[in-house]
Amino acid sequence: MKRRDILRSLTTVPFVGGIIAGVVPPGVAIAASKAAKRDLFKELGLRTFINAAGNYTSMTASLMPEEVMEAINSSAKEYVMLEEVQDKVGEKIAALCHAEAAFVTAGCWSALVLGTAGVLTGMDLKKVAQLPKLEGTGMKSEVIIQKSHINGYDHALTNAGVTIITVETKEEVEAAINERTAMLWFLNREAPMGKIQHEEWISIAKKHNLPTMIDMAADVPPVENLWKYNDMGFDLVCISGGKAMCGPQSAGILMGKKDLIAAARLSAPPAGGNIGRGMKVNKEEIIGMYVALESYINRDHQKEWRIWEDRIAVIKNAIDNVAGVTTEVIIPPVANHNPSLVISWDPNKIKITRDGMGEKLRKGNPSIETIAWETENSIRITVFMLKTGQEKIVATRIKEELTMASA
Ligand SMILES: *Cc1c(COP(=O)(O)O)cnc(C)c1O
Repeated sequence: MKRRDILRSLTTVPFVGGIIAGVVPPGVAIAASKAAKRDLFKELGLRTFINAAGNYTSMTASLMPEEVMEAINSSAKEYVMLEEVQDKVGEKIAALCHAEAAFVTAGCWSALVLGTAGVLTGMDLKKVAQLPKLEGTGMKSEVIIQKSHINGYDHALTNAGVTIITVETKEEVEAAINERTAMLWFLNREAPMGKIQHEEWISIAKKHNLPTMIDMAADVPPVENLWKYNDMGFDLVCISGGKAMCGPQSAGILMGKKDLIAAARLSAPPAGGNIGRGMKVNKEEIIGMYVALESYINRDHQKEWRIWEDRIAVIKNAIDNVAGVTTEVIIPPVANHNPSLVISWDPNKIKITRDGMGEKLRKGNPSIETIAWETENSIRITVFMLKTGQEKIVATRIKEELTMASA
């Protein structure tokens, strides 16, 4: 069945698990009629869907490309020492991202926890065993954050036992720094909301001989962010592996200064008796993360951006002429920096709520996930998590539902 035929029949035949297997991500070869494989989604009664929402942990985030799956599968076939995998992969990642050292963590969140642990303990194993208790241990206990950077993610730092001190101005940072101050933390996503920008944040910390950490979890593209914050002088940089980089969802990277990375690793597996023993990544994820990072860096980013724009255009063009519909392309400036489409409609002309629309698309064939947007009459979609060709299905389905709801 050609893809054109699949698309034509999608709206008329009931969805059969696997029909969308004809729509593949770039670089994935269509396997010539392989023997029927076990379909665990079907077997378990799981709903699969077209992800027009975006990179969401709850939706299993991203799909790993073929080269990452090959790395995962091939590395599963031998034993190696876990510490050696982290050493070797860490060297490669550090070189790719202009860091002194790096290792693969169980997501960006885990990088935040382990990095903070490293700052607190240094190479002192007694302190490693004492975390998250800080009182009476001689360890520092406060992390300074701009108020606008408080966004739930700072909870990762408090996992290591620290207290968050919030500030707004440079003068407040200076006043907040004391002998208990362990680190100055920066949430890249909220940089536009803060009074103090990256370089100034670093320079205040340097003046007081304090380490800095930046959370840039979802902040590629642009690709150069992978080294920008290391070059800028942040001591620790944390990023997710399974967002736009499409590495393992359970992986992330902690990179930065050699001594801090070595210290952070004391709180991570395979070592036990520490706060990070539950944050395990095995060789498959570590090597998968490395290959995903390398593949992401080497990708044609301009081409990828054009593909996203083309997909947006397919959907926009399909629905722009439905009476009462307005569309707007939005590109978030920092995190999840890729084009998304906000679709709004006049409730007098199109009688459906955003939740109603979301439900119709979810329950349709195939199922499609979108985001309920700011008003009662708008949804938002992103296209960077779609497989090639799925934009046409999304366009057709949204147009159908908007037309059907038209008064
Ligand atoms: C996604 C995200 C995290 C958590 O990253 P994981 O890789 O899912 O652990 C932390 N901080 C920010 C800003 C994020 O967007």
